[in-house]
Amino acid sequence: MIRIRFQVRGVVQGVGFRPTVYRLAVERDLSGSAWNHAEGVTIEAQGAAELLADFERVLRQEIPLPARVQSVASEAMAAIPGESGFQILESGRGSDLRPVVPPDLAVCAACTAEVATPGERRYRYPFTNCTYCGPRYSIIARLPYDRPHTAMQAFPMCPGCAREYGDPRDRRFHAQPIACPVCGPRLLLRQPDGVSTAEGEAALQGAITALKAGQVVALKGLGGYQFLVDATSAEAVQRLRDRKHREAKPFAVMFPDLASLQAACDVGEAERVWLASPEAPILLLRRRGGGAVTEGVAPGNPNLGAFLPYTPLHRLLLAGVDRPLVCTSGNLSDEPMAFEDAEALARLGGLAEVFLTHDRPILRPVDDSVVRIDGDGPTLLRRARGFAPLAVPLGLDGPCVLALGAHQKNTIALLKGGELIMSQHLGDLTNVEGADLLARTVDDLLAFFGARPERLVCDLHPDYASTRLAEQLASEWGTSLVRVQHHHAHGAACAAEQGLKGPVLALTWDGTGLGSDGTLWGGEALRIEGPACERVGHLKPFPLPGGEAAVREPRRSACGLLWAVRGAGAPPPGLAPAFEGPDWALLQAMLAKNLQSPLTSSIGRLFDAVAALAGLQARRGYEGQAAMALEFAAGNRAEMPYPWEWKDGIADPAPLVEGILSDLAAGRDAAFLAARFHAALADLALVWARLGGLREVVLSGGCFQNARLTERVSARLADEGFRVHRHRLFPPNDGCISLGQAAVAAWRN
Ligand SMILES: [Zn+2]
Ligand SMILES: [Zn+2]
Repeated sequence: MIRIRFQVRGVVQGVGFRPTVYRLAVERDLSGSAWNHAEGVTIEAQGAAELLADFERVLRQEIPLPARVQSVASEAMAAIPGESGFQILESGRGSDLRPVVPPDLAVCAACTAEVATPGERRYRYPFTNCTYCGPRYSIIARLPYDRPHTAMQAFPMCPGCAREYGDPRDRRFHAQPIACPVCGPRLLLRQPDGVSTAEGEAALQGAITALKAGQVVALKGLGGYQFLVDATSAEAVQRLRDRKHREAKPFAVMFPDLASLQAACDVGEAERVWLASPEAPILLLRRRGGGAVTEGVAPGNPNLGAFLPYTPLHRLLLAGVDRPLVCTSGNLSDEPMAFEDAEALARLGGLAEVFLTHDRPILRPVDDSVVRIDGDGPTLLRRARGFAPLAVPLGLDGPCVLALGAHQKNTIALLKGGELIMSQHLGDLTNVEGADLLARTVDDLLAFFGARPERLVCDLHPDYASTRLAEQLASEWGTSLVRVQHHHAHGAACAAEQGLKGPVLALTWDGTGLGSDGTLWGGEALRIEGPACERVGHLKPFPLPGGEAAVREPRRSACGLLWAVRGAGAPPPGLAPAFEGPDWALLQAMLAKNLQSPLTSSIGRLFDAVAALAGLQARRGYEGQAAMALEFAAGNRAEMPYPWEWKDGIADPAPLVEGILSDLAAGRDAAFLAARFHAALADLALVWARLGGLREVVLSGGCFQNARLTERVSARLADEGFRVHRHRLFPPNDGCISLGQAAVAAWRN
């Protein structure tokens, strides 16, 4: 008889870990106990040596998702004579309990099978869940994570559910959101005026009928309202675009099952694993030719954001409609997703024909996460459902820090006890709803994690809602406020994610962020070492006539770039059609008088300018659309790079612009220009890397959402012996700014 104590660390609380341990122990005739505590889960197990060895092997290697075991330490103990049975002990002993708030998890295989099996208690029940799956973060009001502290407090358990909840052998042992048709939430079908017209199965069927008829359905999903519409119908998709004021930005598509998804997109082995994971993100996949999904879902885009139903409700809907559905956040463009019922009806009432809703409140919005896989692994482009608010150990020791991020695709981050807790993707802070959500999320994270920040961090930009909130909180709490330059934060984020403190060379290429010299940066090479940051190189700045207006009008970037290179003059023939009437003359006059024409070194704006010159995208569009057009035009084509002119690390794009103009005059097509431009950017990266003289190079910024650019730059640098680091678990776009801010503040010790 042997007794061993195992200390297990990782994602092991709130994810069904202890019931699994219970089963493993009972199956092996082991006695002992398991309990949660500050550092994870401790297990004491006693029994025959070979059975204990097998128990440890399974513990280390075969624990099912969503639990993630990081480490198992074991030590032998004196056996307890006569001990019998295995117990799960109550947690919460001691005051140093490290809070764990589990993320929302996709429906598991067992629950899926149950919902699909006639005769089962939960047959066709849309709110089925267990300890391995279901809502978590979106329904937890406060800790400890017990049912009375969740949105399920309004649903007293029926005897059947109470029995399952209390039985350690049941997979619903201590499943806080446990529910069934007798005691749980139910579906409602509502008209846009709020009048309900059907309940339960009839409500589901009503929504299925509406979708088949091409109508827009507002669905109360797991973490907020979503718009659903038939993805095979060009008219239906266009109707949704018109109502949402979303002209061209791609929609994600949810497929009924893996087979139908694979018919529409190329799916590799790693992608299959992600599709079936508890995080169940939207994956950016390459579209196959033809297929049922209508072109208008992602116009001109070779990729498709595709995912599988991740709740029983989505599964039942998709199976009923039996065709792929557009599944997109329930909002008007630029607003946060609606998640409260009254608010959803008020804001979305005119946008959908019917609302499929239910009576389980959503306590905070959690969007779908977005992942792209390439040869080297995953890149998280949007970090939300399935990931937030999991703590990530980054070894950033020091004071408790709260970082409020930037302005677009925003997240906030809390650094506590060496772990980083990043909020879900909050979106843009351009309107009141966005700023409100920011403030609520600050309250949320501080309450959940019992945190009292000793330092606050924000961007240098004085007008961001995040900066203003940070200033207000710093004065209320009497804490110090650290302001971190935007691209310093980008580089620090990528370094911190990789466990690096520097010195590293950071290539931080994005739209724009305020630089420490008052101009708009976005094409920088920075030497970062801990809290210190030095600008090693940058793009030679060019003016942006109209400033912010240039973000939505690539032609303005082209006009400003041409002004910087050639001075006043007529637009080149290819660009002229993009300027109606007096537009060109007006912009030239602004530039001549230096009116509202801030200087920028942004590579994002350079992408815009080149896309406009190449005739790909001159007017309107969503952020990043022009850069995507260039990325797609270039494809896998390899061409000679355009040249740069160099002066002390400053890259002058004049020869590049002249090269583009002469290629255009020679009748070369956009694909040729795009390939040369991408090659030129790889050259740019290499020159800066050599200038930096450091082996470690980190890539960050929205431009590195561009797969082709990222691959070319990485390969070019790796060939020359540089070690290139990319974002993996945090987004390269401004979603990582809060992480970088927190790292810089922590490094300031
Ligand atoms: Zn389940
Ligand atoms: Zn029940």
